[in-house]
Amino acid sequence: MKTIVQAQQIILEHTKKLTPETTPLTESLGRILSEDIFSNRNPPPYDISAMDGYAVRIEDVKEPTKENPTVLKIIDDIVAGAEPKIAVSAGTASRIMTGAPMPAGADTVIRVEDTDCNNENVKIFAQYKKGANVRYLAENLRTGDRVLEAGTDIRPGELGILSMVKKADVPVYRRPRIAILSTGDELEALEDPFDDRKIPDANSYTVMAELKAIGVDVTLLGIARDSEEELKAKLKEGLGYDALIVSGGVSVGHHDFVRPTLKSLGIEMRFWRVALRPGHPFAFGTGNDGLLVFALPGNPVSSMVCCQQFIVPSVRKMQGTDKLFRTTITATLIEDIKDRLGRIHFMRSHLEKTTDGFSVRLTGSQGSGILMSMVEASCMIIMPAECDKLQAGSKVTVQLLGGSCFQEAPGFK
Ligand code: AMP
Ligand code: MG
Repeated sequence: MKTIVQAQQIILEHTKKLTPETTPLTESLGRILSEDIFSNRNPPPYDISAMDGYAVRIEDVKEPTKENPTVLKIIDDIVAGAEPKIAVSAGTASRIMTGAPMPAGADTVIRVEDTDCNNENVKIFAQYKKGANVRYLAENLRTGDRVLEAGTDIRPGELGILSMVKKADVPVYRRPRIAILSTGDELEALEDPFDDRKIPDANSYTVMAELKAIGVDVTLLGIARDSEEELKAKLKEGLGYDALIVSGGVSVGHHDFVRPTLKSLGIEMRFWRVALRPGHPFAFGTGNDGLLVFALPGNPVSSMVCCQQFIVPSVRKMQGTDKLFRTTITATLIEDIKDRLGRIHFMRSHLEKTTDGFSVRLTGSQGSGILMSMVEASCMIIMPAECDKLQAGSKVTVQLLGGSCFQEAPGFK
């Protein structure tokens, strides 16, 4: 039996980066950059005001107070986008708007809140440091600087930078194409008539959601019944993808045909069973031309946990980033937990901010079939294999679920 880290390593050794392509900027959110991006401009393109106020020479402002203001003559009114023509000289000031270019001669902007004015003069009530409220040429980006690195996740901020440097076509890695198949005689498909004696297929949708959330192009192959012929026919449909995910039928039951059927299709099974809970029957194989095959256990929580721990890092590697693993942090447990020894346990939990950090509690019963435990979960408590109890108040490692926070190492052993 592999440890979780060994299993992750084997999967990652067989995972290849996908080829690069370009995508329109408006479609690039959630993708990963395949090239470094350099700035082709110097925003702001000149010194600008950061505030609505008055552009002055600081040497003209003489320790003013409310009772004893500095009075300067207003010589211009500068709006954003204007080209100021009149220089500020001794005893004068220009009214200036946020984002407007600084006039020659001026070095500081006095906020409108610290002034009073009539048409001709401005009264200044507060002393400022030289340079206050000025944004300098190129302080945002500078021509030639590398502003984004290949391998970066395109989130709203990165997308904004891409728009600033006018990358209308963004270099990214191709989206992984992944097929998902559920198996089991007892399963009811979403489109089947409602039958209370059946088990609704949840795995197709939870796994689809995990993958769509990280930018995968998902195809649902539906449900294969527990017969070798039907399984083989359905699995064949998944061979042309970057990865094929099958759930159920991977354990030791008499009708668990998934592994032998995969082998009969020429898939080389690399390992079966990992020391984790839930999800221990997980299996991994590889086909010709780089196909990865992930065989998830049928229980809904097990399949989600295996997807999170094994498939998500592999997909991230395909997409060309080094940050493969969801972020882990330390939190304070607010209840006692008892557990069995022997396998690392991913416990569905909820994280809350406290005054001095984060507290974490379980989301309820932790059975591998209890999908409701995932519903409120914002993280997983990672219960080490050698640990059978944890007391309220102890510090635990938790892995965050969802969001765009990833790190380079798993964060646990
Ligand atoms: P198996 O791994 O096929 O033995 O299935 C283990 C358990 O998971 C059984 O109780 C199955 O009914 C259940 N199960 C298998 N596949 C699914 C699925 N796609 N959605 C929900 N439950 C499933
Ligand atoms: Mg089954």
